[in-house]
Amino acid sequence: MSKEPFPIDEAFRRLRFATQGLAKAAMFDLRDRGFDTPYEQLVGSLISARTRDETTLAVCLRLFAVARTPAEMVNLDERRMTELIREASFADVKARDLLELSRRIVEEHQGVVPNTLEGLTAFRGVGPKIAALTLAVGFGLPAIAVDVHVHRIVNRWGYVASRSPEKTAELLAETLPRRYWIEINERLVPFGRFVCTGTRPKCSSCTLNSMCAQIGVISPR
Ligand code: SF4
Repeated sequence: MSKEPFPIDEAFRRLRFATQGLAKAAMFDLRDRGFDTPYEQLVGSLISARTRDETTLAVCLRLFAVARTPAEMVNLDERRMTELIREASFADVKARDLLELSRRIVEEHQGVVPNTLEGLTAFRGVGPKIAALTLAVGFGLPAIAVDVHVHRIVNRWGYVASRSPEKTAELLAETLPRRYWIEINERLVPFGRFVCTGTRPKCSSCTLNSMCAQIGVISPR
């Protein structure tokens, strides 16, 4: 059980402080470097699936130096695309998916990325998390992108109780104030990489310790 009622505003205040100076989550890093269009965020989010943030960033910077719009991207052939994103996991599959969604955006959407969950997940390779990141970071729309870090941490807090990221997303949509829907991913990805890590989280020095139920934490540092 939580040591005190979970004060979400105070948690975010502390998270902003705790994540200062830590490496940013890849999509927010790209946004802050000027790669902030819905299309760039969609491409970056797809590349980021099962790929480390530092690899995602390097791959996206190389790809965007060659093509930054769907019209530019469809001029790449599959071999060239695969070569450009080769360090990403499943590069060959992602290259095919990126080329297909770029072609469909040009041919079926007049070059404009759809701004709905349904429209985005209609593209092959785009699941709810990629769609949520695109909506949140690319469009600035309230959407909760739940990755492994967000899922793990809000369950440790005791803020939700869920066994899957999909269920966590549902529960957060019911509980989390909308003003934090975009920010939660921005804060919890670096916090999860460097503080509330998957194994041996740094609880003794964690700024959220007094409010965290530490559900399921076995051997904290
Ligand atoms: S106290 Fe431990 S489990 Fe809770 S947020 Fe901090 S690092 Fe994570």
